[in-house]
Amino acid sequence: MGMSFSPTWSGDRNAMNPAIGKRIDYRGITKAYGKHVALKPTDLTIEAGEFFAIIGPSGSGKTTLLGLTAGFVAPSGGDIVIGGHSIGGIPPFKRNIGMVFQNYSLFLHKTVAENIAFPLKMRGTSPQEIETRVADALAQVRLSEFAGRLPSALSGGQQQRVAFARAAVYNPSLLIMDEPLSALDKNLREGLQFEIKQLHAKFGSTVLYVTHDQGEAAAMANRIAIMNAGEIVQIGSARELYSKPRNRFVASFLGSANLFAIEKMERRGSGAVAHCAGGLTINGILSGDVGAKACVCIRPEAMTITPVRIDRDNALEGEVIDTTFSNGIQRHWVRLGTGAVVEQQQHINRDRYAASAGQRVFIEWNASDCLIINAE
Ligand code: ADP
Ligand code: MG
Repeated sequence: MGMSFSPTWSGDRNAMNPAIGKRIDYRGITKAYGKHVALKPTDLTIEAGEFFAIIGPSGSGKTTLLGLTAGFVAPSGGDIVIGGHSIGGIPPFKRNIGMVFQNYSLFLHKTVAENIAFPLKMRGTSPQEIETRVADALAQVRLSEFAGRLPSALSGGQQQRVAFARAAVYNPSLLIMDEPLSALDKNLREGLQFEIKQLHAKFGSTVLYVTHDQGEAAAMANRIAIMNAGEIVQIGSARELYSKPRNRFVASFLGSANLFAIEKMERRGSGAVAHCAGGLTINGILSGDVGAKACVCIRPEAMTITPVRIDRDNALEGEVIDTTFSNGIQRHWVRLGTGAVVEQQQHINRDRYAASAGQRVFIEWNASDCLIINAE
C-alpha cells in the first residue's frame, strides 16, 4: 500500500452516516468454561462512536469478551446492551456487528467486490445500491482497481483492507476487530493503523479493538482497557495508564518499569522515606499513605545516568552491565550496590552522556517521579 499517509478517500456523496455507532453496556457479563473463569463478571460502558482498545497477555479473556459481544460465546451470566437494547437472545448474524480477525477470513473463491457485497446481499440490499456501496467502500480502502481480483492475488495488507471494507460496508453499529494487524509486518501495520483510525472517523461505528500490542492500542484508541486473568484491571488513555498505573501488573505491562517493593515507610517532614527491598532507600516521596503491599515504580526515562559521583538522596552508584541503542533511544542496564538491576533510558543527543558496559556510574532520579503503586 506504500507509505503515503494522505487521506485519499474522497469526500464522496455517499459519505457514511457519522452517527451510526452505538453505545455498549456490559452488565455483569461473565463466562466460565467448566470451573475455569475466562471472564469474571464485568461492567463496562463503551460510548457511541468510541474507538476502544483492549490489551492484555495471551489468555486474559480478550477474545472471550469479543465472542460474547458477537454472539459466538454464550454468557454464563450478565447481559450486553447495545444502543439501549439487550442483545441476549439475538443470534450473531442479526446483531449488526462487523468483524475483522487476524487471519483475513475472506471468501477465497469470491472476488474482492463480491466479498464486500456479501453482507449487503445477505441483508437483501438492492443490486443497484450494492453496486454503489461496494464502489464507495472500495474507494475508501483505495482498492478500486482490484475489484475483480481474487484475495489470493492481493498482499496481506490489501486483504485486511478488503476485510475491513466488508465489515464496515453495511454501516454496523459496532465493529469488532481481534488482532487484525498481527499477521502483518511492522511498517505495513503502522500504515494500516493510521488508515483504520481515519476510516473509523469516517464510518462512525463504535470500534472494539483487541491487540496484544500496547503501542498499537495507544496509537489508535480513545481509551484502553487492560485485562489480566479474566478481568479488566484498569481503563484509561494510554497516557493515564502509563503515568498512573493502578498496580504492578499495569506498570510493567505498559513500557518498562523499575519496581522496588517497599518494606517500610517512614514519615519525614512533609514527605516520606521508603525503605525498599535490598536496602534501597527512596527519600522525599510525597504520598506516605500506602497499603501494606506497595512498591515504588520509577520509569526508565525518569532516571539520569552520569559518570560523576553524586552524594545525595535518590542517587545510587552502580555498574553498567548492558546498553542498547534503537531508534534514537539509548538504554542502560545498571546493577546497583543492592544487587538490583535498573533500566535507564534517554533520547540520545550530542551532549548526552552514554556509558558502556563495565563502567561505574551514578543513577539519579527525582522523588516526584516516583510512583507508589499497589504491589499486588
Ligand atoms: P485472549 O484472547 O486474551 O488470549 P481468550 O479469551 O481466548 O484469551 O481465553 C481466555 C481463557 O479462556 C483462556 O484461559 C482460554 O484457555 C480459555 N478458553 C477460551 N475459549 C475456551 C473454550 N472454548 N473452552 C475452554 N476454555 C476456553
Ligand atoms: Mg485472543
